[in-house]
Amino acid sequence: MTETLFTRIINGEIPSEFIYKDDLCVCIRDISPSAPTHVLIIPRKPIPRLADAVAEDREILGHLMLKAGEIARQLGVGDAFRLVINNGADAGQTVFHLHLHLLAGKTFSESTLGM
Ligand code: AMP
Repeated sequence: MTETLFTRIINGEIPSEFIYKDDLCVCIRDISPSAPTHVLIIPRKPIPRLADAVAEDREILGHLMLKAGEIARQLGVGDAFRLVINNGADAGQTVFHLHLHLLAGKTFSESTLGM
C-alpha cells in the first residue's frame, strides 16, 4: 500500500516541524492555513477516514481529542478553538489519512461550520 503524505511526514521523509509528537500522534502546522492558528493532529496509524475507524481505534480517537485540548492550551488558544474532521472527498477531504484540523484566532460565525 502506498504511504500517505502524512505517513511520509511522520517518518521524516518530508521535512516538517513537529509541534507535538508522542507514540500515537503528531501535530504539525497546516501548510495552507485557514485561520491564524491552524494545526493538524494526525494519528500515526494511517486510518484513511474517520468512517474507517474501528472499535480497536477507540484509544487513538480519544487520544486525539484529549491532545487537541492540550495542544490548544500550549498554543495559547485553549479558550476558543474549533476542531474539524473532513470525512470523504465530497466533504473536502484531500489527504486520506485521518486528521483533526485545530483552528483558532479568528471569530467563527455561529451559523457556519466552514473553516
Ligand atoms: P483535508 O482537506 O481535510 O484532507 O486536509 C488536508 C490538509 O493538509 C489541508 O488543509 C492542507 O493544507 C494540508 N497539507 C497538505 N500538505 C501538507 C504538508 N506538506 N504539510 C502540512 N499540511 C499539509
